[in-house]
Amino acid sequence: MRVPIKIGSTTLVGVLRESFPLQHGNCFDMIVDEKGYHVANMYYENLEHLIETLGLKDLEIEIILEPELHRRGTLLVKDSRVPDDYLHNNICSTCLGSERANDVRKKLGLPEVEEKDMWVIESSDSKKLRLEWTITELPGICIINDSAIEAINKIDFEEK
Ligand SMILES: [Zn+2]
Repeated sequence: MRVPIKIGSTTLVGVLRESFPLQHGNCFDMIVDEKGYHVANMYYENLEHLIETLGLKDLEIEIILEPELHRRGTLLVKDSRVPDDYLHNNICSTCLGSERANDVRKKLGLPEVEEKDMWVIESSDSKKLRLEWTITELPGICIINDSAIEAINKIDFEEK
């Protein structure tokens, strides 16, 4: 379907803009029918470059996953005006969470990647705790699994 280009959130990683297309850039969301979708196969800088050079105002896309509770919707750019080398298949598990990223890889016939979304926190006496987290559909918000919260409650981080 062809939709007007409406950018939602973007990640804010600094990138060198030496020559286009960039091999690594920022992830972004597009707003389609007032819902945000993670764009799985294109970096923001590359789209911005095509908007500037080709005057793109709309984009042919395919929605591959609808947003669900705690899971982000995902779409692919499939536009004949976008050269192949402006697209990528580095499905981003930082943005999507590893489970959702694997859902997307499965849909695209890409190999799944075995990984867990984990943070390690350390108390002042070097006790370590691994936290599993799950990404939500809200930008920048993730939830920590219940079992991790129980573990935090059991550890006394202020032992004196
Ligand atoms: Zn990302």
